Amino acid sequence: MATGRVVIDVERCKGCELCREACPKDVLALAEDLNNKGYRPVILLDPHHDCTGCALCATVCPDGCITVYRDVNVEKGRAPVNRSVEKIPANASFSAQRNLPEVLNHG
Ligand code: SF4
Ligand code: SF4
Repeated sequence: MATGRVVIDVERCKGCELCREACPKDVLALAEDLNNKGYRPVILLDPHHDCTGCALCATVCPDGCITVYRDVNVEKGRAPVNRSVEKIPANASFSAQRNLPEVLNHG
């Protein structure tokens, strides 16, 4: 299964928690500290690497604060390294196809 991680622009985040509600893995949390705008921003809290890179959080974020990175298996023998990381643009949705490169659909 693919694994992912997210990078959140904490200074632009307004702490609305829409991304937290959308995350099926419950790996987003509110930070203790306030950002420059006075909001508690969302941070990734994923000690067990449960994030799948599904991009639901980035899709629902109204301010495009989340960038999703997803590990993609590279077919054995076709590349010197067997894993690569794909950046999924914020507010993008995608569909994954078995044994094929992931397809990004910009909505
Ligand atoms: S990419 Fe998916 S699993 Fe990862 S933090 Fe966002 S919603 Fe949660
Ligand atoms: S949806 Fe966007 S603005 Fe709202 S808490 Fe999440 S990252 Fe911050």
